[in-house]
Amino acid sequence: MSNLTYLTAQELRAKIGSGEISAREAVMASLQRINAVEDEIRAFLTVATHEALEQADAIDERRAKGEDLPPLAGVPIALKDNMCTTGIRTTAGSVILGDFIPPYSATVASRLEAAGAILVGKANLDEFAMGSSTENSGFFTSRNPWDTERVPGGSSGGSAAAVAAGEATIALGSDTGGSIRQPAAFCGVVGLKPTYGRVSRYGLIAYASSLDQIGPLGHSVYDCALQLNAIAGHDPLDSTSANIAVPDFTAACGGDVKGLRIGIPKEFFEQGVSAEVAESVQKAIEKLQELGATVEECSLPHTEYALAAYYIIAPAECSSNLARFDGVKYGHRTNELAGHIGLTEKTRDEGFGDEVKQRIMIGTYALSAGYYDAYYKRAQQARTLILRDYLAAFERFDVLATPVVPTPAFKAGEKADPMAMKLADVCTLPINLAGVPAMSVPCGFVSGLPVGLQLIAKHFDEETLFRVGSAYEQATEWHHQHPTL
Ligand code: GLN
Repeated sequence: MSNLTYLTAQELRAKIGSGEISAREAVMASLQRINAVEDEIRAFLTVATHEALEQADAIDERRAKGEDLPPLAGVPIALKDNMCTTGIRTTAGSVILGDFIPPYSATVASRLEAAGAILVGKANLDEFAMGSSTENSGFFTSRNPWDTERVPGGSSGGSAAAVAAGEATIALGSDTGGSIRQPAAFCGVVGLKPTYGRVSRYGLIAYASSLDQIGPLGHSVYDCALQLNAIAGHDPLDSTSANIAVPDFTAACGGDVKGLRIGIPKEFFEQGVSAEVAESVQKAIEKLQELGATVEECSLPHTEYALAAYYIIAPAECSSNLARFDGVKYGHRTNELAGHIGLTEKTRDEGFGDEVKQRIMIGTYALSAGYYDAYYKRAQQARTLILRDYLAAFERFDVLATPVVPTPAFKAGEKADPMAMKLADVCTLPINLAGVPAMSVPCGFVSGLPVGLQLIAKHFDEETLFRVGSAYEQATEWHHQHPTL
């Protein structure tokens, strides 16, 4: 392990800026760490060694010429492999895109490149982001750096594991029902799902378009703010990206929480949350109270419908989004001479895994004539009630605090029943249905495994999350702990 391995992006960037180290040295440290631990962790589907070193040299040349360097210059980053990168294989964790090399980059990838961040690799995920453990990846399961028998969470499990293992300094994930926050909690790093519409999804391989949002993971709240600064803001290429002003999120870090009103929604402690996780979260809330916030219990009464509504809406949207994978223009195509319709059938049968097939079937069923009213329409009505719960709560509170996941990381293979896996998403899914932003911050350990505190704010108020998250972080030591590998 090099002495650069666990530096934050903020620290690494300062060293590069002052000339203490070069961008090449920063990237070499990351690539060497990948070489050393990747057999155990398996966070990456593709490592972009050649491209990363080329980019690092370009940054070093700019510095040599006396140019001002951008905010993330030389910082090694991992991108979840559902974000398109020109010339670098992008699989979405699926065999159907096993050899796909995109002809264009996602807006987030271009913006991070412009901010100087250096892509070291594409991180593993559950196929098309459907899952909570990376066990649904079409290629392999990533491992939790705190205990390699356990999963890193998912679907952005590779991104979280890469940061926690020191392979990349920062990472992007996508979050449709918890896929940034849950792996962040399992791996002991910070993860943020921004407000729906805050970040462009152009070039993100879609799962459920009314829920998907891209966001950052890092060792600190500040590192997430640096990344969100780079990727947030309107993009004419994504009609759902909001055309509203983007503040400097790093400026919100370091503020205090005096007088801040924190609501504790009681429903989030009733859903199979383990006593140890509840205790860690309670202690974190007490810490915020000590720092000057006021704390009061509240209710989000429609929370109990979130899981059922999500698992209708997300499959419905995925069944439509995944219709494009037909073996005609790109991706895997069957070798069998199967005729026009057979070509699509065989290609999809060979290319998709079981979980994806199951969701396409559920989604198609829920959208079909005669069932639409009974399932899809009612799920959308429940979604509206859930959104109203949040709008009402944010009239009284600045932020809500809850657990991220009911338990710490589980063992690979432990949740073989797909229903058990989905039940563990109870604390994260409602946030996507409401479209509000939420952050997972490390708040303790249970039997040596990290636990996360979830902070939730109103639409487009990520600044409050940065303020509360960084105040908590500065008052605690959890984020300084790293796994021994
Ligand atoms: N675990 C949830 C699902 O499988 C959420 C995944 C995600 O956020 N991409 O749908």
